[in-house]
Amino acid sequence: MTSRKASPSSNAREAERGTMNGEAESIPLSALQHWLFCPRQCGLIHVERIWRENLFTAQGRVLHASTDKKGHEQRKGVRVLKAVELFSARLGVHGVADVVELHGHPPRPVPVEYKRGRPKAHRADEVQLCAQAICLEEMMQVEIPRGFLFYGQTRRRKEVRFDTELRELTARVAAEVHELMRSGRVPPPAYDKARCGPCSLLSVCRPRRMARPPSVSRWLERAITGSGAPGT
Ligand code: SF4
Repeated sequence: MTSRKASPSSNAREAERGTMNGEAESIPLSALQHWLFCPRQCGLIHVERIWRENLFTAQGRVLHASTDKKGHEQRKGVRVLKAVELFSARLGVHGVADVVELHGHPPRPVPVEYKRGRPKAHRADEVQLCAQAICLEEMMQVEIPRGFLFYGQTRRRKEVRFDTELRELTARVAAEVHELMRSGRVPPPAYDKARCGPCSLLSVCRPRRMARPPSVSRWLERAITGSGAPGT
């Protein structure tokens, strides 16, 4: 495992682009996914710029290795573009799509995002994909009704329809992340075993400890009974 004060490859590419082009008020697409997964995780990564790698993030990085290089190819009559740079002025987001397929005539872009695990109960992956579609719509002046999430564990694609509800959720999440970045305040932790267990920031966040900080009375009690006080 490695530990560093930086970002993983896709986050780094997104962050670099935003800075290089002077799009300071633009947020990385991945931040939307992080926010829906856990607002504190989003704050730690995008406000504090802290990143820790664990087994799950490393697996995700390996999965993305094949789509991280810019390029294009033809697969079963479909033109496939890799590592496509994206930007939306409306949402104020920027990033990189793993894959954009061009279907039909005239060619219609269909975003495809690669994920390590399996379909989840929350909508973080769908929101990230929908934001990519909104970027492509704005950049190419087309309507994009659907995209796909490819999950490494199931080795299957899941179709995602970009309906009004998902588009509204995506716009709302983008606005919430902008507010987070403006405030610069990292939200407090909310411990959830299923969510925090695989989180690579668990050791930095310490959600159980932060949720129940040592009280002054417990500190005094330990100091008086000699069982040790914090910092001793
Ligand atoms: S450990 Fe839990 S509360 Fe902390 S950032 Fe990760 S998911 Fe969020």
